[in-house]
Amino acid sequence: MRDEEVPNPASGYTDPIVRDLVAAAFETIRDRYVLARHQIAAAVLDADGRVHLGLHVDAMVGRAAVCAEAGALSAARLVTSASLLAVAAVRFPKPTEPPLARVVPPCGLCRELLLDHAPHISVVLPHPEDPLIPLACLLPHKYVGTKWPAPLTQP
Ligand SMILES: [Zn+2]
Repeated sequence: MRDEEVPNPASGYTDPIVRDLVAAAFETIRDRYVLARHQIAAAVLDADGRVHLGLHVDAMVGRAAVCAEAGALSAARLVTSASLLAVAAVRFPKPTEPPLARVVPPCGLCRELLLDHAPHISVVLPHPEDPLIPLACLLPHKYVGTKWPAPLTQP
């Protein structure tokens, strides 16, 4: 636990939907942060207005780690088939770092994963003045394999 308060990065966003999503991710990682085990939380908004949370799970072997976005996607799919509209992830600072929680865009693997399951999802960026971008813009030439007969389509 930190001695000093870590400000909620949601306060920098004016769009209420974005602000709520960032706040959900921030509050999750603030409450569940464990050094070298849980550093990031993600929140996914579905078309029914529900928010699904995920927690980064680190591992001794780096490749075994699970990103917060993957956890949030799984949490969403446990309870709904609704389209997923937006995702926000927040990284909580280590005790040795300045007390600044940061909104972080998804890593490359999560960009692939999210686009496989939510092709129209948008991502909250760490730029409150222009906070949302379609994820497809961050990965314009995603991998398209032959495992599935056709890309997933959502209304
Ligand atoms: Zn990731």
